[in-house]
Amino acid sequence: MTPLGHLALALIIGRTLKYNTTALRLCLLATFLPDIIDKPLFAIGVSITGHTIGHSVLTFSVISILLISISRLRFLIPILPGYGSHIIADLIVAYPKFLTNYFWPILPQRPTPDDPVIQYWIDYATSITGIIEFIPVIIALWIIIVDRYTPLADTKTEPSDTNS
Ligand SMILES: [Zn+2]
Repeated sequence: MTPLGHLALALIIGRTLKYNTTALRLCLLATFLPDIIDKPLFAIGVSITGHTIGHSVLTFSVISILLISISRLRFLIPILPGYGSHIIADLIVAYPKFLTNYFWPILPQRPTPDDPVIQYWIDYATSITGIIEFIPVIIALWIIIVDRYTPLADTKTEPSDTNS
């Protein structure tokens, strides 16, 4: 999934959970976390794919347990839906060929993409999953434009119908 798709999913989740501006910003920023962790590791040759530590459901589980169990860190809990939705979305898009990467370090890594990167994204954009990605993007645009729910302004905690 592209960064735009990840952001769109996180915005939908933030709207659904009625996050305030701060929580929504954390949720949105967290959608970049798996790639911020994994892409540099891949770029410098530490891993053979851009989906390992940051995209692992095990890493996500450890972070979730830490944020939920340590009271001082609970204000960071809104990163979990953003982070988790990134992993789930990538997992669905990558399934089944790259499924093992999401269980690092238990299962072996598989390199992705197999083709040159540009060809990979052209293939993705014209695939059914690439086309399906437009659905959350359109929903997110609707939320931003019609509902005026964005991370930029002071978002209401209950964005529905308070102006009517
Ligand atoms: Zn990713």
